[in-house]
Amino acid sequence: MLRELNPSIRTLMTPGPVEAEPRVLRAMAIPIIGQFDPEFLAIMDETMELLRMTFQTKNHWAYPIDGTSRSGIEAVLNAVIESDDKVIVPIFGRFGHLLAEIATRSGADVTTMECEWGTAFDQEEIIAEIKRVKPKVVALVHGETSTGIMQPLDKIGKFCRENDVLFVVDAVATLGGTEFKTDEWFVDAVISGTQKCLGVPTGMSPITYNDRIEKIILERRKIEQGLDRTSENPRRIQSNYFDLSQIQEYWSPKRLNHHTEATSMLYALREGLRIIQEEGLQERFERHEFHEKALVAGLEAMGLTLFGDARYKMPVVTCINIPEGVNGDEVRFTMAKEFGVEIASTFGSLAGKIWRIGSMGFSCRKENVLHVLAALEASIRRHGGKVNAGEALQAALDVYEGKTAALASK
Ligand SMILES: *Cc1c(COP(=O)(O)O)cnc(C)c1O
Repeated sequence: MLRELNPSIRTLMTPGPVEAEPRVLRAMAIPIIGQFDPEFLAIMDETMELLRMTFQTKNHWAYPIDGTSRSGIEAVLNAVIESDDKVIVPIFGRFGHLLAEIATRSGADVTTMECEWGTAFDQEEIIAEIKRVKPKVVALVHGETSTGIMQPLDKIGKFCRENDVLFVVDAVATLGGTEFKTDEWFVDAVISGTQKCLGVPTGMSPITYNDRIEKIILERRKIEQGLDRTSENPRRIQSNYFDLSQIQEYWSPKRLNHHTEATSMLYALREGLRIIQEEGLQERFERHEFHEKALVAGLEAMGLTLFGDARYKMPVVTCINIPEGVNGDEVRFTMAKEFGVEIASTFGSLAGKIWRIGSMGFSCRKENVLHVLAALEASIRRHGGKVNAGEALQAALDVYEGKTAALASK
C-alpha cells in the first residue's frame, strides 16, 4: 500500500503554477453534479459572466477550454486558420515560438519576426510587417513569461481592426495580474490560463472572442455524426476536441453534447474569478505592482541586477541576472531544499543566465516576497556569491511600511 498523498507545502514564486487560493481548493472538494443539471448549467453561465468581467469585454463568447493554456491557443488558432492562411507571429521569447509552432501545425503560412530576448517590439515595426505580408491573422504574446517582458498592444490592435486583420493574443501570464483590455485594444481573440495570475490550479484555458472570429467558426461548423448524420463541411476544423464550433454550442443554450465539462475545475475557476470580482480588477493590478515594488527593492538592495528592458517589464514576473561565478541551478536547489521556496530558471539562450521570480495571484503576497528574498540571499551566499547581506528584507519592509517612494529601476 502506498501512503496517503501528502507532499510538502511549498512557497511557489515561479511564473506558474502558483499557489492556489485556499477558497479555490475548497471549491474543488464540492460534490460532482451532472453536466446537464440545471444547477451546473447555471454555474457555466455565471463563469462566462465572470470571464467577461476579467477579460474586460462585451464579447458574448468567454468560456474555458479544458486543458492547459496551450489547449486554448490550439483551439483558437485551429478555428481561425485554414490551409495556407498567412499568419504573422512576432517572437520575443519562448512562447512566441509556441504560437508559431501551433500556427504552423494548423496549416498556416507563418511569417515570424524576432527581436532580442529581453526587450519588446516597437509596435510600428509589427505594423510595417503587417502592411508588407497582408496576413489574415497576427498572433502575439502579451506577457512573455520566459523573459519577463510585456509587449504593448494597443496600436497593433487598432491597425489590425482598420485593415481587417484578425488579432489573437496570448494573455496566459498577464490576465488577472495586470491590465488587459480586450475590447479597448481591439483584440479579436484572447487566450489565458488558470495557473498564473488567476490563482487556480492548472487545467483550464479561458478564452474570449468576438463576432469576427465567431463568423469563421460558424462557417466551419461540423457536428459529430453520432449527433447529426447530415452534418458535413469541407472546411471543418481539423481537431474534434478543440472544435470551437461544437464547444461554443455546448456553452450556448443548445447545450450540444460535446465533451464532459471538467466539473471540479469549473468550480475552481468560478471561485477564482469570484475572488477577482470581490477584490476588484484595478485593486488587484495595484496589489501586484505593490508587491513587485517590494520584491525589486529587496533584490536591488541585495546588489542584484534585473534582466531586460525596464520599460517593458512585466509587473508579475521579475528576471534577475545570475551573478558572475554563481551556479544558478545550485542556488535554486538550495532554496527549494532548505527553504521550500521555488523560483524558476528559463529556456533557450537565457538558460543559466537568469532566474525568474513570479509574483502572481495568491502567491503575490507579503510573506512570500519576504520568504523568497531571505531564501535567495542565504542560498547565494551558501554558494559563494557576494551580496549586500541583510539589506534586502529591510528594503522590502521599507516598501511595505510605506517608506520608499519610487521604484528605482522603473
Ligand atoms: C505558461 C504559458 C503558456 C503555456 O501554458 P500551459 O498552461 O503550460 O500550456 C503559454 N503562454 C504563456 C505566455 C505562458 O506564460
